[in-house]
Amino acid sequence: MRIVFANSAWVNAAERLILRGGTWQSVRLRVRYGLFFHPAAGPVLVDTGYTPEALSGDRSGRMLRLYDALLRPDLNAAEQVLPVLRRFGLSPDDIRAVIVTHFHADHISGLSLFRKARFIASDAAWARVKARTPRQNLRHGVFTELFPPDFEARLEGLSAKRRVETREDVPGGADLFGDGSVIAVDLPGHADGQFGLLFNGLDRPLLYAVDAQWLLTALTQDRTPGFPATLIAEDAAAIEPTSAMLRRFLRSGGQVMLCHDPAPTSYDLAADDPEAG
Ligand SMILES: [Zn+2]
Repeated sequence: MRIVFANSAWVNAAERLILRGGTWQSVRLRVRYGLFFHPAAGPVLVDTGYTPEALSGDRSGRMLRLYDALLRPDLNAAEQVLPVLRRFGLSPDDIRAVIVTHFHADHISGLSLFRKARFIASDAAWARVKARTPRQNLRHGVFTELFPPDFEARLEGLSAKRRVETREDVPGGADLFGDGSVIAVDLPGHADGQFGLLFNGLDRPLLYAVDAQWLLTALTQDRTPGFPATLIAEDAAAIEPTSAMLRRFLRSGGQVMLCHDPAPTSYDLAADDPEAG
């Protein structure tokens, strides 16, 4: 199964905020999203990255504009989701499934582009979004104006999926396509309902751990940031156990990828990828 990741935007953060013992120097972070080609489900997106919808247009509320002004994402035109799909000969309507790992703006801002897609996401987290006022949602980092109006009608919740155990070092998860190829593994801590994706059938198993940490170094060197990073976490107490699980997976030979880590990986789209030309 071919799996690629693209970088929708760059954002800057002081290293100290995202790495224990880090400096005040600014780190240029990626904002990845993924695309894989499932034999039965076809091309599947993993989040949408940052798209212009997050920054402009009718959907942009006052708080959303403020948030973007603070984070100042620098959109990467060449690897925005639409041009990347074009590289693979795909139009947005060819995408029949978007996996939504959690509901932060840099993961959902392009959902409205995919009119034919179902959305595979945490239905439990969605129920909580609906129960909150817009102001309460903002405190959880959720900008409800970014959801397509028919999001719920197209939602395929994790709770309806079969739960499977695959490995000793990773807790069980939801089998997204019923064939064991992609397992949604809960990653509590960063955001309500966040889950990662375990691609277990590869030569080297891959766990896309989204925003469980910002930097891989935080896992490999045991340097998960404390305050104030914990302040913006959904469940600060869960961050360390989730990070410990990812370290076990790394130690047993697995590969962990994060959304924001700046170092290129073998899954990142190369600018001149001949296969995608
Ligand atoms: Zn996030």
